[in-house]
Amino acid sequence: MTHSIPERRFQVYGKAHIDKLPQLQKLTDQQRLAMKTVAEVLPFRVNNYVVEELIDWDNIPDDPMFQLTFPQQGMLRPEDFELIRGMIQRGADAKEMAPEIKRIQYGLNPHPAGQKSLNVPHENGEPVPGMQHKYRETVLFFPMAGQTCHAYCTYCFRWPQFVGLDDMKFASKEAVGLVEYLKRHKEVTSVLITGGDPMIMRTQLLRQYVEPLLGPGLEHVTSIRFGTKAPAYWPYRFTHGPDSDD
Ligand code: SF4
Repeated sequence: MTHSIPERRFQVYGKAHIDKLPQLQKLTDQQRLAMKTVAEVLPFRVNNYVVEELIDWDNIPDDPMFQLTFPQQGMLRPEDFELIRGMIQRGADAKEMAPEIKRIQYGLNPHPAGQKSLNVPHENGEPVPGMQHKYRETVLFFPMAGQTCHAYCTYCFRWPQFVGLDDMKFASKEAVGLVEYLKRHKEVTSVLITGGDPMIMRTQLLRQYVEPLLGPGLEHVTSIRFGTKAPAYWPYRFTHGPDSDD
């Protein structure tokens, strides 16, 4: 297949790149320090497509894509922001900062509206891993390998999935539990595979989650959807590389 869009190699930028990205040199030291402060607590990840194509660098910090993907001071409470910024400024090491960071993360109510406890289905008194069943006809499924994204959104409420809060994560390594649950719940007509972003996965891996949903006993499941921002954040997932045509 021929492509009119030139190929691009996926490059990820995170907290360690805030002082290195040439585009960010337009900001003041204090602005970059503010970004680093927030990025100590909340996940930050962009890629070269977002940086080079989606952000108008003549319009920062107001550019909406910049605000959507780069850390913003208002994401932390003022007292937490001051504390972490102060620690960075006096050169506190990671060991000293870790407990404060964790305290702030847990204080940010990472799973609002009881998502962690109220929407997780139970079978035989045990939680079914990697699933949420909030709406009668729809089950959300979180495959383990899809718990990251091509870039992170600053408004995202799924961030505990990205920062290693293990007891705040829900993800499943396999579709077996999902299939068994769906066989017993004929009211479910729709499965939403989400994350993170499931399109971060290679197609071969994605297939291991999807194909079991097409088997016998699941005829009541009439739609399988993917929650993804890949068309916006990394369109090359669909235009280039071995996975794009698969
Ligand atoms: S899960 Fe969705 S909203 Fe959250 S960072 Fe990833 S793409 Fe953005």
